[in-house]
Amino acid sequence: MKYDVIIIGSGPGGLFTAYHLAKTKLKVALFEKGKDIQERICPNNLNQTYCLKCNPCNITCGVGGAGGLSDGKLNFINPDYPSTFEVGGNFLDIMTPEKLAKEMAKVEKIFLKHGASKKIYGTNVDKIKEFQKKANSAAIELVPLKQRHIGTSKLPKVIKSIENYLIKNGIKIYPKSEVEAIEVQGKKIKTRGGKEFYYRYLVLGVGREGAKWLEKIVQKSHIKLKDHQGEGGIDVGVRVEVPSSIMEEITSVLYDPKLKIMTKKHDDYLRTFCTCPQGEVMRENYDDFCLVNGHTNPKRKTRNTNFALLGHYTFTEPFKKPNEWGRSLAKITTALGGNNPILQRLKDLKWGRRSTLKRIKNNVVLQPTLKTAVPGDITLAYPGRIVDNIVDALEQIDKIIPGVAGDSTLLYAPEIKFYSLKVDVDNEMRTNFSNVYTIGDGAGISRGIVGAAVTGLIAAESIQNRSK
Ligand SMILES: Cc1cc2nc3c(=O)[nH]c(=O)nc-3n(C[C@H](O)[C@H](O)[C@H](O)COP(=O)(O)OP(=O)(O)OC[C@H]3O[C@@H](n4cnc5c(N)ncnc54)[C@H](O)[C@@H]3O)c2cc1C
Repeated sequence: MKYDVIIIGSGPGGLFTAYHLAKTKLKVALFEKGKDIQERICPNNLNQTYCLKCNPCNITCGVGGAGGLSDGKLNFINPDYPSTFEVGGNFLDIMTPEKLAKEMAKVEKIFLKHGASKKIYGTNVDKIKEFQKKANSAAIELVPLKQRHIGTSKLPKVIKSIENYLIKNGIKIYPKSEVEAIEVQGKKIKTRGGKEFYYRYLVLGVGREGAKWLEKIVQKSHIKLKDHQGEGGIDVGVRVEVPSSIMEEITSVLYDPKLKIMTKKHDDYLRTFCTCPQGEVMRENYDDFCLVNGHTNPKRKTRNTNFALLGHYTFTEPFKKPNEWGRSLAKITTALGGNNPILQRLKDLKWGRRSTLKRIKNNVVLQPTLKTAVPGDITLAYPGRIVDNIVDALEQIDKIIPGVAGDSTLLYAPEIKFYSLKVDVDNEMRTNFSNVYTIGDGAGISRGIVGAAVTGLIAAESIQNRSK
């Protein structure tokens, strides 16, 4: 079977490539190794666990991609604030802020057409000014994104609506169809069942889930890379949980407030990320360790708000394997928690003692939302520099969000974000093979739903223009 365009992966990157091409006469097929969105159910998700154990995993695979079952925070740049231009990926190497704003506006329009929430955060200019003044006086940079929050219960319906549009407009979707091999010279792909399909243009949008597979393909096919296996660094930190009332003033204006903090002792750069107002902390299970994450289910709101506080760590000589370092930190932390994430009160961490169930119970205003986290001592797992940075950053944030560095604040570890390899692409998302495109998170180009969707639209626009 021959298609003009074959897209591998139906995350936001792949879906938005197909969305744009659905308006053209090109014959397009989308291959996805996971299930269709309505079949993606993870029983452990109800227990606040992303178990990542099914093969393929329903949390990270399937139509809608990695964030398909998440609470769908859509982050857009705010043209009035240049600090927001880095949101969603490192796009400024390949496009101007104006172009980025234009592409993000297209993504936003499509999401709204298919049922995304009309409520928008990050537009109250007076309030943002007020927060910015406070932040700057505490030497913190506030990045005032424009944001929409779809919510866990609504996102699958939005994805289904997009999928229906694609099918109605002639896009062929192959769920449960893992692509096993690619022959760049022969312009063909082979699925796990052994079926072969030919293409004129190939779009690789395999996400973090497919990053390892992509690495092999890239090596075998001589596709050029910019960065091997995340040599650029790694993000390590904790998930912070506080009473939602403490964060409400800021989260009602900026749903997921992004703060950038330079720590005093080590001069390291930390950031807040993935704030979940009235949400719960989640657990992600990997083969030999677990990590923490967070989400907000509008149907199951809690009295707590959580966010990730992450430092970016890079290495020079002789060690160049940040992902390996991150994995060993994750393993030791998980082991100390008896195969669980560790939970510690900020007061205990500062006093140099472990948290215990009794001490956690003493927290009158704040009880942990992740019940399987084990009270312990994060300082036995994390290097001193990381611990110093966490305390330092929280104390700085406390100046603009009073109470964040309170005694009862809860810290969960390990919270680690690994980086994938980075494929060398031009400003149309083309690799050194001009008919092979890489898009989204798996190729190290985007970080997040909107960013991945933007790369999909750009690839699709290029294919449309070049196939005329
Ligand atoms: C739990 C969770 C919550 C998140 N919440 C948010 C959020 O609120 N906001 C936000 O902006 N981002 C969020 N993210 C991140 C976001 O989901 C990703 O940034 C985004 O989905 C990346 O899009 P993508 O198209 O690059 O790849 P993905 O969404 O990862 O999609 C890639 C797809 O390719 C498929 N695939 C891989 N290999 C193959 C193969 N060989 N053959 C066929 N198919 C293959 C996979 O099954 C997958 O469905 C979250 C991620 C997770 C895991």
